Amino acid sequence: MRSSLIGKIEKARRYAQEPGRVTLSSLAADFHGENAEHKVSYAEGKWSCTCSFFGQWQTCSHVMALQEMFRPALSKEALASFPEE
Ligand SMILES: [Zn+2]
Repeated sequence: MRSSLIGKIEKARRYAQEPGRVTLSSLAADFHGENAEHKVSYAEGKWSCTCSFFGQWQTCSHVMALQEMFRPALSKEALASFPEE
């Protein structure tokens, strides 16, 4: 393997230990809920989810779960509706 590529792999491993370097600007996910499948996304500063709860509250357990899962890589705005914020 070329030495320059080995250097990149080592750097990538170091970066992977520093999640604060990455902020997700958008996100799209298929969420396997207890009763149904939902499409959850985050784009241009807004979350959305296809579940009926989200339509009324602009947040839901699916959004909250993703906020918790990806917390280190989400901006303050993306975490704004997180209950602990
Ligand atoms: Zn939902």
